[in-house]
Amino acid sequence: MTKYDKEALEKFRLSGKILRESREEMKKFVREGMSAIEVCEKAESLIREKGGKPAFPCNVSINEVAAHYTSPPNDKLKIPEKAVVKVDMGVHVDGYVTDTAFTACFDSEYSSMQSAAEHALNAAIESIHGEMATSQIGLIIERTIKNRGFKPISNLTGHSVGRYLIHAGTSIPNVMQLSFAKVKAGEIYAIEPFITLPDAVGRIENSPEVTIFRLVKVKSVKNPNTKKLLKYIEKNFRTLPFAERWLKDVVPEDKHREAFKELLKCKAVMGYPVFIEISRKTVTQAEHTLLIKENGCEVLT
Ligand code: MN
Ligand code: MN
Repeated sequence: MTKYDKEALEKFRLSGKILRESREEMKKFVREGMSAIEVCEKAESLIREKGGKPAFPCNVSINEVAAHYTSPPNDKLKIPEKAVVKVDMGVHVDGYVTDTAFTACFDSEYSSMQSAAEHALNAAIESIHGEMATSQIGLIIERTIKNRGFKPISNLTGHSVGRYLIHAGTSIPNVMQLSFAKVKAGEIYAIEPFITLPDAVGRIENSPEVTIFRLVKVKSVKNPNTKKLLKYIEKNFRTLPFAERWLKDVVPEDKHREAFKELLKCKAVMGYPVFIEISRKTVTQAEHTLLIKENGCEVLT
């Protein structure tokens, strides 16, 4: 008995195909000196052109920033020379989420750390199967990374995905971890090793910057602009993460800031802080979404 019926699995597969094609185009697109917002908007428009919807804003996380940076409105950030850029993208088709990431490496000094992330991901893909312990997957990822002379980021994990859910409950660690959790055949998981230098702390912390948001609860608000913004978020993103730049033109420009702040203040909307490596060392990442089978897996992305 699998969790998803045939129709749902076909939507996951379509979601994965759209994401795979978009990611491959983005690998050729990303360049040094390009503005971050151009990268985000290109990824998101590719996804839409191919018939999907972004499951979350495209993340463009540079050097020691590990994850969760997307361009805020009117972002001036540019990809610096010799940058190491994690581009993390998600698609949903009727709510069925797939998630993928690659590292664009413009400094040859980090190219073996970029490929180490791919190798760790592939090692996990080659060994994963139904009923495998998540601790065992973490061990395989950790060993692959350490064998290549690098360090896994120990407090970032992969995750099960679901309908309108990016994190559906089960975490897939990137290090050996005591846990009795197992991956189940018929369920969908994103595996995503994050890697840093051996002399780094190897953990991330929250930065004060917040660029990605999510609806928590539909609250009653009085201000008509705040109400309008909340309705728009509920209708268009449901519980999926969104970027503030996706709310452009929903309310008059001069009223937007105040209305958006009110949604955060009354906790109708929450923010995800940007994740930064504690010792400010460069981080690489690779990610695929997998459908687990009894004897292996199908890579959806
Ligand atoms: Mn991702
Ligand atoms: Mn993910």
